[in-house]
This record gives sequence, structure tokens and C-alpha cells, in this order.
Amino acid sequence: MITEFDFDLFVVGAGSGGVRAARMAAAKGLKVAVAEDRALGGTCVNVGCVPKKLFVYAAQFAELFYASAGFGWSIAAPPKFCWATLRDNKTREIERLNAIYEDLLKNSGATLLTGRAIIEGRNQVAVEGVTYAARSILVAVGGWPFIPEFPGSQHAVSSNEMFFLEQLPKTAIIVGGGYIAVEFAGILNGLGVDTHLVYRGTDILKDFDRDMARKVSAGMQTKGVIMHLQRDIVEIKEHDDGYRAVFSDLQTLDADLVMYATGRRANTANLGLEHTKVELREDGSVVVDANFQTAEPSIYALGDVIERVQLTPVAIQEAMVLIDHLFGDAQQTIDYRDIPTAVFSQPELATVGLSEEQARNEFAHVEIFVSDFQPMLQSLGGGADRITMKLVVDSATDRVLGCHMVGDHAAEIIQGMAIALKAGVTKAQVDATIGIHPSAAEEYVTMRTPTG
Ligand code: NDP
Repeated sequence: MITEFDFDLFVVGAGSGGVRAARMAAAKGLKVAVAEDRALGGTCVNVGCVPKKLFVYAAQFAELFYASAGFGWSIAAPPKFCWATLRDNKTREIERLNAIYEDLLKNSGATLLTGRAIIEGRNQVAVEGVTYAARSILVAVGGWPFIPEFPGSQHAVSSNEMFFLEQLPKTAIIVGGGYIAVEFAGILNGLGVDTHLVYRGTDILKDFDRDMARKVSAGMQTKGVIMHLQRDIVEIKEHDDGYRAVFSDLQTLDADLVMYATGRRANTANLGLEHTKVELREDGSVVVDANFQTAEPSIYALGDVIERVQLTPVAIQEAMVLIDHLFGDAQQTIDYRDIPTAVFSQPELATVGLSEEQARNEFAHVEIFVSDFQPMLQSLGGGADRITMKLVVDSATDRVLGCHMVGDHAAEIIQGMAIALKAGVTKAQVDATIGIHPSAAEEYVTMRTPTG
């Protein structure tokens, strides 16, 4: 039995959850180590939320240039886009953030160990050939893109590679109907790439309110994304300078790039967890209890690796709850209900609470309020965008159960509505709120007549 530990907490993985846990524990005066074998900040900072949002901004300019004409602007020459400038400026910004993460960790007093960590036992972690003894170990290694195996699947790239492409393709096929596929379809389309989205189901974004997902799908198609629904690719062949995707009905589609966004899997391979009692599910994710403890009492896990909710703010909150539980007064909690989320598709989708379908399953009397209108920008700017807002209300209690929006600034607006929902807002309270005029958000407080 180990009696002296090098560290009170050894965090494996310096992503959003791992860094927050390490900083909080170090701030309490504990001896903390963090091991990371890639850039600091994990998926979100390096190949996820942050660079993705920068690319979304880049993709929106074409429409803004177009709209500017109606407001009196003329641009002398047609605007030109340079992929290398965007990619390299993005990389510089991410490197700046990596450095901030390093400072944050070091200033908190945590020890940063660079290299792959291998868990050698319930209290031992090795990094670069040195074994450390730790009272507790936190597995916060996140996830990794999953691409199914089939003939030619090695030709497909994942979202990881999209951030570093040598060249922007002329034509791209994106496979999947979830967050990443839909977001990248919007990015590429906005940057001028002929973009095909291939999805095996009938409607993209299947976990969202159906009406709202369909609005996103319609909006994407209006902007130029070509949808191939209920289609499966069975083979990818190299073809001329690009690739030929073969569908199950043997029809083909050619493109310079094929990207798969078919989910992410927990990053638990080759981590040494077989040396412990930690239990994994078939998909590799770590089984934890309500306090993020694994079947090995000294080992904890949180964030994408436990595959509860794969969202950065959730991993951060989980980290705060864990550290408070392990080393504080165990006051902090996490509530997985009513988590707001946004898909940075074009048009954007944001949502909090129950979809209409979920509400109708759970509640006997549901009222739906919808407002669908043209954004004011378009009165002079032209374009075909719409904004759709939806409230789902339990008419028995008047409580707002869900709030959904498709259109410009949806994420910014829904974040505020999420606070109201969390506080148990009623429809009457929403109605009693004065609007901000002129804004899109004011529509939420002026919906008087149920549409369903
Ligand atoms: P998602 O789980 O959101 O979507 C995966 C998609 O791939 C689904 O449409 C699924 O189809 C399809 N799919 C799965 N397996 C196959 C297969 N073998 N063949 C064809 N299609 C398949 O995963 P993502 O990769 O888009 O994103 C991973 C997670 O990352 C998200 O769930 C989200 O939590 C997080 N994320 C959050 C973002 C944000 O907050 N804005 C942005 C990006 C990611 P089906 O629907 O039929 O199952």
C-alpha cells in the first residue's frame, strides 16, 4: 500500500474539464498534476468550439457583403476569400489561447506534465517513463471523432483535419446529421464550396424539436447546401484528383473532400485502464456514479469521456462539482435538465428545455406559440432568411417547458431565456416582460395566440 503520494490529484487530460478541475484543486492548496500529450485546452480550444466559431464568422461574410448593397455600400471589386489567411490566423489565435491555458495552470500551482499518461494502477500514473503516486486520479481525456469502417473509409477526414486543410476543396461531401456535420456544411457552403450533406435518416438534427430542425434544413438548402437524405455511402474510391462516393443503390457522387461527422467516442484506448477496476461501456466511455466516481474508488472521470452530455460548459460544471465534492464542502451540484445548447449552423439553432414532441409525451395539455418572420436586416439587405421562435408551455401550470429559435443570434437570445426557464418562468411572466424594440428577441414577449 502506498503511504506517500506525489500528488493529491492527478488529472489526465488538459481539456475544459481537466483544466478546471486541476485549477480548482490547486487553488485549495492541494498538490495537483495535469498530464497532456497534445495542445492544452482539449477539443474545444483546438479542434472544436473555438476554431469552429471563427470559421462560422468567416462563412457569414458573403451574405453580409451582399446585404450591404441595400444599405448604400458598394464594394469596388468582388470580395475574394483566402483560405490560408483564415486557417493561419485561426491557428495563431488558438496558439495564443494554448499559452493562456498554460499560464492559468502554472499560476494555479498545478504541475504540468507533457506526454502521454498511462494509468498503471489505482494510484499510479506514468508519464514519459516516470511513475507518480496519486491519492486520486481524474480521467478527463475527452473524445475522438468516430468514422465507421467500410471500403475506402480511410479517404474520409474528420472534423480534426478540417481545421488544417492545405486547400479549401471545390466540392465537399459531409456525412452525418448531427451538430458537427450541420455546422461544417454551413461553413464550407458559406466559404463558396459546393457542399453536399449526406445523412442516413429522414431529417437532420434528430434530437431537436422537429419543426426547428426542419427550419434549419430548409434554411441550409436555401443557402445552397445540397441535402442527400436517407442515403448511405458504402464505398469511397479515389477518382481523378478527388474521391467518388458510392451509395448503397450504386449511384455515385464526386468530391474533392469527404468528411465524416458520425459522432465522437471516448478516448479511453491505450490509457492503461485495464490495470484498474474502472468499467467501460461497449463504446469505450467510462461508467461513473452520481459523484463521477468509477468502479475503482480512487479514480474519477468527467466530461466527454463519460458521454453524458458532450458540451464544454457541462464538463466545466462537472469539474467544479467533483472538486467541491472531493475537497470542499460538497455544496455544488449539476442539473442535467434544461441545458441550453446551440448548433452554429447557418441558420443558427438554439434551444433550451423540452421539444414540442417531448412535451406532448410528458404533459397532457401543451400549448405551442410560434413566431416566424423576416429579419429586419433583410428589409433593405434582401436575402431569404427567416427567424422562427417557439415556446412550449404546459397549460395546466402555465410553465414554459421549452424555448427554441432558428435564426441570427439564436444562441445569444436563448442563453437569456435559459435563465428564465431555470427559474421556472410562466407564460404570464414572459407576457408581462417589456420587449426591447426593435429586436428579434422581443418576439418572445409578444406571442399571444397559441398556434398548436
Ligand atoms: P452527433 O451525435 O451529434 O451526430 C452524429 C451523426 O452521425 C448523427 O446524425 C448520426 O445519425 C450519424 N451517424 C452515426 N453513425 C453513423 C454511421 N455509421 N453512418 C452514418 N451516419 C452515422 O455527433 P457529432 O459528431 O456531430 O458531434 C458529437 C458531439 O459533440 C455532439 O453530440 C455534441 O454534444 C458535441 N458538439 C457540440 C457542438 C455545439 O455545442 N455547438 C458542436 C459540435 C459538437 P443518426 O442521427 O441516425 O443517429
